[in-house]
Amino acid sequence: MVKRMIVKIDEKKCTGCGKCVAPCAEGAIKIINGKAKVVSEELCDGMGFCVGICPEGALSVEERYTVEFNREKAEAQPKQKDISIKCFSCGANEATSYLIPLRHNMQSLWVCTRCLPKLIHG
Ligand code: SF4
Ligand SMILES: [Zn+2]
Repeated sequence: MVKRMIVKIDEKKCTGCGKCVAPCAEGAIKIINGKAKVVSEELCDGMGFCVGICPEGALSVEERYTVEFNREKAEAQPKQKDISIKCFSCGANEATSYLIPLRHNMQSLWVCTRCLPKLIHG
């Protein structure tokens, strides 16, 4: 056991929408019985990329004792494709563009790096 950063899921807030599953590059999150679950803590690197994606605020990252992150196993996980991940502005997907998670008006959105400057500069 090591003390490190790892994701925490608030089951009361989670609606099971599944938006956090594909963005987790390590494949650590799955929906089980309608709730997001960390299937194996050794797959979570604690980077917290999922945190901004959850529309319900159910995800956070905390420091606690757990198993060490297993990079080899994480990289060997089947990669999840999700066609719902696309730029809200132009519709570009992750195959052609770099996408960044965004929060606006209580919504979790994706934006591509081409459309992002328009949001910054208006
Ligand atoms: S994005 Fe949030 S509400 Fe949706 S399944 Fe994941 S933890 Fe649950
Ligand atoms: Zn775009």
